[in-house]
Amino acid sequence: MLPGLHRRGSHRPRPAGGRTVRHHRDVPAEPPPAGEPSTETCPGCGAVLAPAPGAALPGASPSCARLFEVTLRGLREETLDPAVAAVVRLADDAYAAQHSANGGRRPEHWRTTIADVAADLDVIDLRVLVESWARSVREDVAAAATRR
Ligand SMILES: [Zn+2]
Repeated sequence: MLPGLHRRGSHRPRPAGGRTVRHHRDVPAEPPPAGEPSTETCPGCGAVLAPAPGAALPGASPSCARLFEVTLRGLREETLDPAVAAVVRLADDAYAAQHSANGGRRPEHWRTTIADVAADLDVIDLRVLVESWARSVREDVAAAATRR
């Protein structure tokens, strides 16, 4: 015989509200840092480019240095070919002339920069572009040297 009655509730109390716990999964994207310029002008050749991460070379903006590196990368891998090696040297000289950290007489405006070379790369062979760039740099330098 069972003494007394166990009055048990037929149902268990539920956690109040019955809400499910939400996990916030979507992290808001970080806004771009305020005041960041959307372009930067290379102090050497004057090319206006979107800012790029990386180290600036002496006399060159990071974006310009990077563009030069990227544009020439393909040729640099082929320098066992003497003709290609000559083009790479030409490009290095042209770039160095436009970005020399030491003063000297410099053109106020370069007619051709690595930005022009990169822009035409889809339609014109890089070697041709480098040759015309190097020629234009020589002419700009010569013109600056005769100016007083
Ligand atoms: Zn530059």
